Amino acid sequence: MNVLTSTRQSAIRALPSEAMLAGIAPDGGLFVFEQFPKLPLDQLLDLPYADMVGTLLSLYLDEWSAKQLIELARRAYRNAFTSESCTQFKHFNKLHFCELYHGPTYAFKDFALTVLPHLLTASLAKQNTTNRLLILTATSGDTGKAALQGFADVTGIDIVVFYPANGVSPIQARQMQTQAGQNLAVFAIEGNFDDAQSHVKKMFNDQNFKEQTAALGVQLSSANSINMGRLLPQIAYYVDSYRQLFKAGAIKFADAINVVVPSGNFGNILAAYYAKQMGLPIANLICASNCNDVLTEFINTGVYNANRQFYTTMSPSMDILISSNLERLIYHLSGNDSCYTANLMLQLANKQQFEVNHKVRAGLADFYAYACNESGTQSAINEVYNDCDYLIDPHTAVAYHCYQCYQKETGDQRHAIIMSTASPFKFADSVCQSLAIADSLNNQSQKIALLATHTKLPIPPYFETLNQLPLLHNKTISIEQMPNSVLEFIRRKK
Ligand SMILES: *Cc1c(COP(=O)(O)O)cnc(C)c1O
Repeated sequence: MNVLTSTRQSAIRALPSEAMLAGIAPDGGLFVFEQFPKLPLDQLLDLPYADMVGTLLSLYLDEWSAKQLIELARRAYRNAFTSESCTQFKHFNKLHFCELYHGPTYAFKDFALTVLPHLLTASLAKQNTTNRLLILTATSGDTGKAALQGFADVTGIDIVVFYPANGVSPIQARQMQTQAGQNLAVFAIEGNFDDAQSHVKKMFNDQNFKEQTAALGVQLSSANSINMGRLLPQIAYYVDSYRQLFKAGAIKFADAINVVVPSGNFGNILAAYYAKQMGLPIANLICASNCNDVLTEFINTGVYNANRQFYTTMSPSMDILISSNLERLIYHLSGNDSCYTANLMLQLANKQQFEVNHKVRAGLADFYAYACNESGTQSAINEVYNDCDYLIDPHTAVAYHCYQCYQKETGDQRHAIIMSTASPFKFADSVCQSLAIADSLNNQSQKIALLATHTKLPIPPYFETLNQLPLLHNKTISIEQMPNSVLEFIRRKK
């Protein structure tokens, strides 16, 4: 059986079903696989998207058969995306955009969060537990809605989402505030994403809190990318990107490509790294950040320093200073050294800073990192729109800008794929402002309409209805109130 271990303690072992249900390891580390299975790329070239996801899952999750996982993926993806191919591509010579926003909530998180509820339901069945599962989720905007959508009214599972009151776009907030379902709660918190994430992690590690929830028959889990069940489905769209370029004749089989990933919690780009470790021909991984450039500095210097100014930007899903999944990369690059990784994470907790050794730095050689400020983001939206007649959202714009920096620095002529992580309509506010078509008097739905008229793009029907939905969740709480609000929610549900 394939087992997972904690990044901080090799004695901790868990089956995939256990690791996914737990979300985070009991010592506060993240669950990881110690080895990467080999990618059967030639067998994946012609599979329907969902079947490819199921096949990839089966390489890691051997508690289920490939057939079961393919069926699970089919159920998860059926009718979730606007097309059966799930992804859509735009090609501009050697630069390609992989649009990951044609799912139910218009951001790439849908690729994993449509599957995760099915994986957790299957895991609950494997573990034969009578407990209810409670998903605690911190969100920088997109995970929250995608998780709510995925878990709404799923039998045996409840979900509570915390988002930063002043740290998400108006549309992201509205998406969460209007979520219907009998098994969920949504809270705005007075703090930023890092506050939300660290306090959720704290609840997972708080023995007293866990005893209280256990006494109520509830077991905690996570829908954040600290959950391995979030990462695995994301490998699929890198494989899909590769096979699309191959089929379009842009590359020959086994030619290496570059990937450009707008990064926050490092989950998306970690999936690219996993794909590469499995044998997908990826040359360089370009990590794009906004003004919160903690990852840029880390990849360029080996020093991770979270003790810096936090900025709220027009790419809010990347406004993060504690990038959780980096812990997994460090673990892998250190040669699966959990003592070493645990020590760095202790330094991070105590001094908000650590520096990696030569071995890890050497392992970072195929990572490139750049940052893009607010005016760079606006210019990128404008440039791509004016030069290519193509509309991108602010997160994708950050990636585009960073790709330009990469090209300038290296002159690399390989084909590159930019992971286009959200619909521009989701950030209509900032996109209108970038295109200088905004009027301060416009409200959100007017801005969406303005953007559609200006660009002659159809408004996705979802955004037209969003404004008519009733507001169901409007509570703002302090960080200290988070554990109690969870306990209240559980009691109210009983
Ligand atoms: C979550 C998100 C990101 C950052 O992804 P990570 O996996 O956290 O690095 C980038 N763009 C958008 C639109 C997102 O929702």
